Amino acid sequence: MGIEEMPHPCPAWCRADHDEIHEQDLRHETFVRTVPAIVRGGGVAETGELHVSGFRAFDEDEAWVAVDGLHLTPESAQRLVHQIRTLLEELGERR
Ligand SMILES: [Zn+2]
Repeated sequence: MGIEEMPHPCPAWCRADHDEIHEQDLRHETFVRTVPAIVRGGGVAETGELHVSGFRAFDEDEAWVAVDGLHLTPESAQRLVHQIRTLLEELGERR
């Protein structure tokens, strides 16, 4: 599918390269933000990365927030951010 065949123009936040669209990539996408993170997996702390981005399928009206494999509506992401802030305050880690 060429860009002239796209059903909708890109939203302002889209940074996807639509020149070569594959069937599984029919969506607008933001830049991917990389978050350095220390993650505890299997009881062991490891240095790693989290990847945060946004996307919207060509045939959907709603944008999604992606945190690695977790896809949230923007409203759900807002609630998660709020609860993480509250939790950090509770832990005395809010800066
Ligand atoms: Zn796009």
